Amino acid sequence: MSNCITAIHARQVLDSRGTPTVEVEVHCGSAMGRAIVPSGASTGKHEALELRDGDPDDYAGKSVRKAVVHVRETLAPALVGMSASDQETIDRTMGELDGTPDKSRLGANAILGVSLACAHAAATAKGIPLWQYLDRRPHAPREGSVTRSVTPTMPLPMVNLISGGLHAGRNLDMQDFLFLPIGANSYSEALHMTVRVYRALSVTLQEHGYEGVLVGDEGGFGPRLNHNEQAIELILHAFRRAGLHAGKDAAIALDVASTHFFADGFYRLQGMLLSAHAMTAMLTDWADRYPILSIEDGMAEDDWAGWKTLTESLGQRVQLVGDDLFATNPNRLKTGIEQGVANSILIKVNQIGTLTETFAVIDQARAAGYRCVVSARSGETEDSTIADLAVATGVGQIKIGSIARSERLAKYNQLLRIEEQMGAGPAFARWNPIAI
Ligand code: PGA
Ligand code: ZN
Repeated sequence: MSNCITAIHARQVLDSRGTPTVEVEVHCGSAMGRAIVPSGASTGKHEALELRDGDPDDYAGKSVRKAVVHVRETLAPALVGMSASDQETIDRTMGELDGTPDKSRLGANAILGVSLACAHAAATAKGIPLWQYLDRRPHAPREGSVTRSVTPTMPLPMVNLISGGLHAGRNLDMQDFLFLPIGANSYSEALHMTVRVYRALSVTLQEHGYEGVLVGDEGGFGPRLNHNEQAIELILHAFRRAGLHAGKDAAIALDVASTHFFADGFYRLQGMLLSAHAMTAMLTDWADRYPILSIEDGMAEDDWAGWKTLTESLGQRVQLVGDDLFATNPNRLKTGIEQGVANSILIKVNQIGTLTETFAVIDQARAAGYRCVVSARSGETEDSTIADLAVATGVGQIKIGSIARSERLAKYNQLLRIEEQMGAGPAFARWNPIAI
């Protein structure tokens, strides 16, 4: 089937918070690819710009009608007639039409919607699953690159269990307490272990007097706990209840999201004012006492000195992930690599705005020995592109949210489909300890 783009259409739809977002359809004759753009709440300031209309009477300022018009009237006329599989040209053309470093003229939401929908259309035209199609993208080693060729691999999920911060009404300072099913031998086993832990945690919370706990934006429980460490203790309790051995089968990851409680040089945590050194001391103490294997945004997005201190203390044994810090941005990642800051990067397609640039950042991270975790946003939809992306790039880890709420399950279930499509004994990324 021809993969020549014959039409591009966009519309405003709603995400998992009832907030407008951009949906794009790319047509190649009778083959159609569709994508919906995700949206964050604890957004970093170095992210590409999500264009919103700002009219208080239209979805409280959050409508995306201008971005939709930009797809229909600016991007579509320029791209119709191109090959949907020529992703680099498509993405470069959109970047040139926008002309800003942060995609603020046309909107990263307009551009990303088209970028992802083109890949879907090209895969459909070829009659192959998206993960297989993306594996053929030019993210394979380039001349002079030290990037090893990667095979499609089922990722280890990093799963939200307890939510705080901006995702659950600031009941806790820290944003996410997550489960790492490190003892799993396959993706489906990891998912099954996750469900056991989630159910066990539900009972544990009730037992400790937290009745009728609601879930946060990503499906994690949102109890009003007294302090952050209590969340860790309750999770360890749930591991035991689920019959899992902490540190062997089951481990903990944190998304501190500390940018959102950092001001005037201090981290405002549980009523205390902590310097970067005090934060490092606290996180190091936790890593000593608890099976915490991964810490995201332990320092704020522009606190490079704090990040350096944290990396010197924990970088040889804990996965230190930059989310707000790197914002999936090659310039920010380059600075981090040069300064020896963090050892891993969160990959969010809408932070940078095109598939081509996402592949490039993954390559850049890999070449420097940094790990990549493909991640959803707190505002999501039924779109499951990141599941295919994580498999195709073989990065080994994915962070989607909890195993409640269908915008999360859309990705977990897509991974189950892909695991089946990959046939007997698909490659699975077991937890790889950061150790010296
Ligand atoms: P966000 O949260 O999508 O609200 O930014 C996810 C994260 O911080 O990892
Ligand atoms: Zn984060």
